[in-house]
Amino acid sequence: LTNRLQNVFSKLRSKGKVTEEDLNEAMREVRLALLEADVNFKVVKDFIAKVKEKALGLDVSKSFTPGMVVIDIVNKEMTELMGGTQSKLAKANKPPTVIMMVGLQGAGKTTTTGKLAKLLQKSNHKPLLVACDIYRPAAIKQLQVLGEQINAPVFSMGDQTSPVEIAKAGLQHAKENQNDYVIFDTAGRLHIDEALMEELKQIHQNVKPDEVLLVVDAMTGQDAVNVAQSFHEQLELTGVVLTKLDGDTRGGAALSVKAVTGKPIKFAAMGEKIDALEPFHPDRMASRILGMGDMLSLIEKAQANIDADKAAEMERKMRTAEFTFDDFLEQMAQIRNLGPLDQLMDMLPGMNKMKGNMKDMKVDEKQINRVEAIVRSMTKAEKQKPELLNHSRRKRVAAGSGTSITEVNRLIKQFEDMRKMMKQFSSMMGPKGPKGGMK
Ligand code: GDP
Ligand code: MG
Repeated sequence: LTNRLQNVFSKLRSKGKVTEEDLNEAMREVRLALLEADVNFKVVKDFIAKVKEKALGLDVSKSFTPGMVVIDIVNKEMTELMGGTQSKLAKANKPPTVIMMVGLQGAGKTTTTGKLAKLLQKSNHKPLLVACDIYRPAAIKQLQVLGEQINAPVFSMGDQTSPVEIAKAGLQHAKENQNDYVIFDTAGRLHIDEALMEELKQIHQNVKPDEVLLVVDAMTGQDAVNVAQSFHEQLELTGVVLTKLDGDTRGGAALSVKAVTGKPIKFAAMGEKIDALEPFHPDRMASRILGMGDMLSLIEKAQANIDADKAAEMERKMRTAEFTFDDFLEQMAQIRNLGPLDQLMDMLPGMNKMKGNMKDMKVDEKQINRVEAIVRSMTKAEKQKPELLNHSRRKRVAAGSGTSITEVNRLIKQFEDMRKMMKQFSSMMGPKGPKGGMK
């Protein structure tokens, strides 16, 4: 999904103007990419309609980066699709908060029970784990092992007592032992069946959970969503945990679940290890799906801070290799508006390597002043053609600006690096940058 979307976007980015036709074409491709990623058909339809509406509503042609505006809309809509903001775990007015984990066999319920307990411990809670899966061989043992690993108590009554009884006793145990959270690990089947649902409903009635979390395997895509829907019809779900996101490259389940069930994804599991569970952030997931890292926050910053006319002019200069030391100064000032350079570099994909070269380039006021002094000591010809700056000229510039030859050398080196960076930067930001500059 990510790759396909990136192709669509790099095409869009390379456009100086986005016509309705461009937009339609891009949306056709996004639609295909989403369907291929196993996103629910109806969800895709609604999604595309919304993005189109927004994009046409905004006069994208006015923006100096119309492609970026579209990407921004797609990103925001994706975030919305997955619930918008992060959905927190419910908390009972009177402890313990009761959490019931449900889902098909192998979805990751037991593992997630352990992980969730660990997360809760991290914020100083005292969770109790209750082993209600008496069917799967070694399921109780599995939970006990997890409990030992994180030093959390596990309540079990073997596999001869009914899960409903175990659940009741477990809740009682939590109350008596001041556990402020109690998590019920329940049984799953390979398919949804009546007997299982009946059992879960009874546990539900007896422990009155604050939170019924459906654990779904993200790798099963569309199926995961169907499962979610059937569970939701039978039990009042309060949220979803998506597991195995580490193996899911398509993102289909993540995108559909909320829209289909109306229930938010509360946690995401990205590995087998006990600490591989995180609160689910729709915005982060969206940028992950779009393959943009923190690119998106950079887009926002850039749109807010870069002067469109100047950027366009700079762009042109970069392309025609007219970029000079004067522009360099100008550019430094613009970039400085975006925030600390270090941070900026972290946000640009593929920029880490460059960062090594530029690590001693701290853009601060003082530095800019010295740079200015050096640049001012260059002749007009030298500014236009830095290649002219041989050793003796550099010595003269150093003397003239009251700096050292080392500093002058460093600046010239930085200038070259900056040129390279700007090339990459402008291909990402600008109307006519080379295609695929973001890889
Ligand atoms: P349950 O039947 O729903 O209780 O599922 P389990 O908790 O026993 O998990 C089934 C398998 O999936 C186990 O081998 C887990 O290690 C694995 N698993 C669970 N969550 C994740 C995850 O986020 N990533 C990966 N790669 N494996 C997971
Ligand atoms: Mg289990």
